[in-house]
Amino acid sequence: MVIDTEALSARYREASVDLYSKRLRITNFHNTQQENDLTEPPNCKGFGRIRHFRRSSNNDWPCNPLPIDPACRALGLQATNMIRAQVFQSAACNWRCWYCFVPFELLSANRKYSEWMSPSQLIDLYLDQPDPPSMIDLTGGQPDLVPEWVPWMMAELKERGLERQVYLWSDDNLSNDYFWQFLSDADLELVATYPKYGRVCCFKGFNSESFAFNTCAEPDLFDRQFQLIKRLLELGIDIYAYATFTIPAASEIVADMARFVDRLQAIDHDLPLRTVPLEIQAFTPVKGRLNDGTQAALRNQYLAIEAWKTELENRYSCIERSQSITDISLHTKQLL
Ligand code: SF4
Repeated sequence: MVIDTEALSARYREASVDLYSKRLRITNFHNTQQENDLTEPPNCKGFGRIRHFRRSSNNDWPCNPLPIDPACRALGLQATNMIRAQVFQSAACNWRCWYCFVPFELLSANRKYSEWMSPSQLIDLYLDQPDPPSMIDLTGGQPDLVPEWVPWMMAELKERGLERQVYLWSDDNLSNDYFWQFLSDADLELVATYPKYGRVCCFKGFNSESFAFNTCAEPDLFDRQFQLIKRLLELGIDIYAYATFTIPAASEIVADMARFVDRLQAIDHDLPLRTVPLEIQAFTPVKGRLNDGTQAALRNQYLAIEAWKTELENRYSCIERSQSITDISLHTKQLL
């Protein structure tokens, strides 16, 4: 099955946003398979969950400083290895990554598992808890099927005078240009200038083969991932990247990883230093999707990460590689 990304994005956007009332469909975790995987029960009447982001990794996989370091920097907190975040999850995604830890039934704007919620209701729920985390994470799903969600949340936080106390973080699978299609110039300006916001963009592979294998989308959309992150960087948003390295065939890993890093550097010389490889692990929903190809892909990611590390060692000094991810300045905007 190959997903028609354009058609599915349009269908899920239609089902996920109520522009008139400024609401979108948010997952309620109660009575879902995902609820069983959570280490703590859902909060916010089922519409939220607390996530503990941790820097450390198992084995030799690089540590993940996201979103810990950007949040600590923005909030003026001491560096730490763990941060709590209030997560809200949009109820639709236009891709179907086999390694997604969200059950697919929670990605189709399913009315059984989601309800219409406004940013005001979400912030009310967030504040109505004993110890609200200082970070809110807008995740999915693909939050940018409803790109209005981010500026709506920013406006709501500003309205309540919380824009300097709460760090806002959102995910983007780099699948469409809805951000520019549907946001007004005023919205773009708000997102670009909001004081405490970071966005992580996910490369779903390091070549078109791994991308298509991972997402079920058309392989040529891998190229569009680079175009989209470049446009976001040009706006001046505080952008970071994730990359997944699962691939079924091991034959071209070294050469293709070199090309992947070339392409990141073509956007900005230091973008690879703001890119964090994610180790894919077999969480509960993933176990049911494993087959010979995905098992091989899980193994091959460990070859790919070695190729990634070698590329970075060849291109950056030890000092450059050991900088905090928040100290890596990108120059994309200034170059325009
Ligand atoms: S893009 Fe993200 S939310 Fe969508 S299926 Fe892939 S991992 Fe899951």
